[in-house]
Amino acid sequence: MNTLKTSTLAIFILFFACNESKPSSEKQWYKGNLHTHSYWSDGDEFPEVIMDWYKNNGYQFVALTDHNTLAEGEKWKTISNDSIYQNAFKNYLNTYGSDWVKHKQDSLNRTQVRLKTYKEYKPKFEEDGKFLIIQSEEITDSYNGKPIHINATNVKRKIDPQAGNSVLEVMQNNLDEVAKHKEEFGTPIIAHINHPNFGYAINLEDMIGLKNEQFFEVYNGHPAVHNSGNNEHISTELMWDYINMAYIENNKPLMYGLATDDSHHYHRKGSKWSNAGRGWIMVQADSLNPKSIIDAMEVGQFYASTGVELKDLTFENNTLSVQVKEYKNTTYKISFIGCEKGQAEPEEFASFESSKASFKLTNNMLYVRCKITSSKLHENPIEDLLFENAWTQPYIFTE
Ligand SMILES: [Zn+2]
Ligand SMILES: [Zn+2]
Repeated sequence: MNTLKTSTLAIFILFFACNESKPSSEKQWYKGNLHTHSYWSDGDEFPEVIMDWYKNNGYQFVALTDHNTLAEGEKWKTISNDSIYQNAFKNYLNTYGSDWVKHKQDSLNRTQVRLKTYKEYKPKFEEDGKFLIIQSEEITDSYNGKPIHINATNVKRKIDPQAGNSVLEVMQNNLDEVAKHKEEFGTPIIAHINHPNFGYAINLEDMIGLKNEQFFEVYNGHPAVHNSGNNEHISTELMWDYINMAYIENNKPLMYGLATDDSHHYHRKGSKWSNAGRGWIMVQADSLNPKSIIDAMEVGQFYASTGVELKDLTFENNTLSVQVKEYKNTTYKISFIGCEKGQAEPEEFASFESSKASFKLTNNMLYVRCKITSSKLHENPIEDLLFENAWTQPYIFTE
């Protein structure tokens, strides 16, 4: 009887423990990249080789986001005659073996390889609690020649670009389609606006006009996307502040910033190529599955990074505190950025030359976010973004 009571109690406790979100001290940080291309569209490598790279470089989750494509059905890739790609194919064949790799020569004696589908490559790399692959897509649309790209993370079917009569309408139509997908499947999904400064297609007013959108790329590792802006266009980081100033004013949820690779080129490396490993997010989640990752992102439990790693990140009693995981012989600048109520411009509230700092948000401030800049050079930078950074999400004052 006693044993029965105890075990019933144990089951009861377990049931409730499993149904409650863990306190942040028990949550884990997971490193992931939500923007990656492969041979399924315009990336230059096989999905398996890409998954292998991310898994062996300290990532816990990754999303292949090919343009208007899911890795499904039969697709044969013709391997370019360029020796780089011929050798890469040989390596691929050697690594995975002829039982796994299906290939043939076509009538022009070119090598064709059947690409592995998501269902095929996923079980080869996923490991419970260690590595997760999230089915995703870069919805690739445009308006008047302006590229409008939106990533949908955790898709169950392909989402076609929806078009529209303005940049804003194209974005909103695609976001609404992602919301419909969520209804249809009852599964969590997030959409994030990609590289707004690519082709300077998406301007601040377009971003401010969005409804129900919480995510965009404050950093994208493709060398053609102008994260830093130019003489006529503001940087994506400054855009982020203006967006949040307007969103808070209009009672919209905060816009969160992601860093991503947008990797296409796996063989040539340098500032002209979009390589893997440049930018990622760290998500503090209950466990490693799409729902936990997305739930955490939706409440802003993540930060963006191009190299700086945080040991601690909290927002308690309106105080934002960060502690950097220190790298040898490296110094850090921790800046707290936000905007005071009634002001038209964001500002740096405070900055510290330290690996640890806090800032207390007061009622007269709209929000605060933290940017950490390392003295350590990024090992493969783009634009003028030479040093490693991290960006926390913005936080607002609560009574
Ligand atoms: Zn894109
Ligand atoms: Zn892309």
